[in-house]
Amino acid sequence: RQADGRRVILVRIETSPEDIHGMHAAEGILTTRGGMTSHAAVVARGMGKPCVSGCGSIRVDYGSGTMSVGDRIFKVGDVITIDGSLGEVLAGQMPMIEPELSGEFGTLMGWADEVRKLRIRVNGDTPADARTAVKFGAEGIGLCRTEHMFFEETRIRTVREMILAEDEQARRAALSKLLPMQRADFVELFEIMKGLPVTIRLLDPPLHEFLPHTQAEIEEVARAMNTDPRRLADRARSLAEFNPMLGFRGCRLAIVYPEIAEMQARAIFEAAVEAGKRTGKVVAVEVMVPLIATKAEFDLIKARIDVTAQSVMRETGAKLSYQVGTMIELPRACLVAGEIAESAEFFSFGTNDLTQTTFGISRDDAASFLGTYIAKGILEIDPFVSIDRGGVGELVKIGVARGRKTRPNLKVGICGEHGGDPVSVAFCHEIGLNYVSCSPYRVPIARLAAAQAALHKTPASQA
Ligand code: PEP
Ligand code: MG
Repeated sequence: RQADGRRVILVRIETSPEDIHGMHAAEGILTTRGGMTSHAAVVARGMGKPCVSGCGSIRVDYGSGTMSVGDRIFKVGDVITIDGSLGEVLAGQMPMIEPELSGEFGTLMGWADEVRKLRIRVNGDTPADARTAVKFGAEGIGLCRTEHMFFEETRIRTVREMILAEDEQARRAALSKLLPMQRADFVELFEIMKGLPVTIRLLDPPLHEFLPHTQAEIEEVARAMNTDPRRLADRARSLAEFNPMLGFRGCRLAIVYPEIAEMQARAIFEAAVEAGKRTGKVVAVEVMVPLIATKAEFDLIKARIDVTAQSVMRETGAKLSYQVGTMIELPRACLVAGEIAESAEFFSFGTNDLTQTTFGISRDDAASFLGTYIAKGILEIDPFVSIDRGGVGELVKIGVARGRKTRPNLKVGICGEHGGDPVSVAFCHEIGLNYVSCSPYRVPIARLAAAQAALHKTPASQA
């Protein structure tokens, strides 16, 4: 429909990374499940597209191509309008205007930059994100989610081959096909960022997100792997999980399949050498390990990364400047941050997962009851939108204090969605973080909020 010149809103129960092509084509996204930090919201925010996620009163029926609210039914092709700021879904076409940036905007941002203490980075995975980030004044990439690079049509089959491989040899064969693609991605990011720091996170999401779903997809991968489709379907079933967000994801992937981390580290370092040659600027690479709970996990993975860096330096004769750090996004990691900081060279608080694991509330399923919690005054605001100072915030403070006790100059940032929320940015300033990282289109808000915090002013909005 978009190719036919129509403007399209993608309506889904929820999105997963494989919806990325539809999300690119859409003007906006509407989901009935999810919340502030679910896939649809995070990706749409990064693209600068409006999104209403977790609209639980709407029912979507893929079979009949309809969505219904009460007794009103909307068919594929009917016109709706969404307002991502207010979280409203409106029947029909509303009048709209394009926002414009005036000269005053630049002046105001200049004033903000003079007083703010926090650095502002961006969560970005694509060259387009990086360009937007630079345009909006970001001072580096604070989170590149590498999994988002794996869903290109030309890659997903190879990623599936890697995941469904039954042994290390087969996995390495698939990884060697992915290496040049990842390297090319990183070269481009590093070139655009021109020497500003870039934090690249190793593969994080639950493997099941990549699994083939349809028979046709299973057969396609089986053909590429020269294996029996039934056997492949069995392997896919064995990888399915009930609770994937608490399952086989994050650093656990690199612990069980170290060759994945090794390929990614090699792609990062080879790209740093290449981009360094092209731009004449040393690339400041930060390799980040997700979902660490223990120092032992971090140490095992860091050792692999260091060995890979040594190999790349030997092979290319170039000198690399890099740090290996970790996401802090589990309560245990906050409590043992002092130990983790013995090895980790920087921390970035993943407050999306930290909120999920501190409250024990799934970030994808919270919408069905959080509204009631807020209406009844149990919670003032959705903790995935604005940081919960009393619980999650305390854990962050503990993590920062214990980390810096071990390593006084530890660089500490935040890359959960809170990094673009003014009230949470104020909290980050108060507790002495070095930077916040947010989606590209929220960079101006973060710059302003950081300045307001430095001037002890209450943020004007909680946008
Ligand atoms: C987080 O958990 O806060 C985070 C930034 O990582 P992700 O949203 O990719 O889990
Ligand atoms: Mg996370």
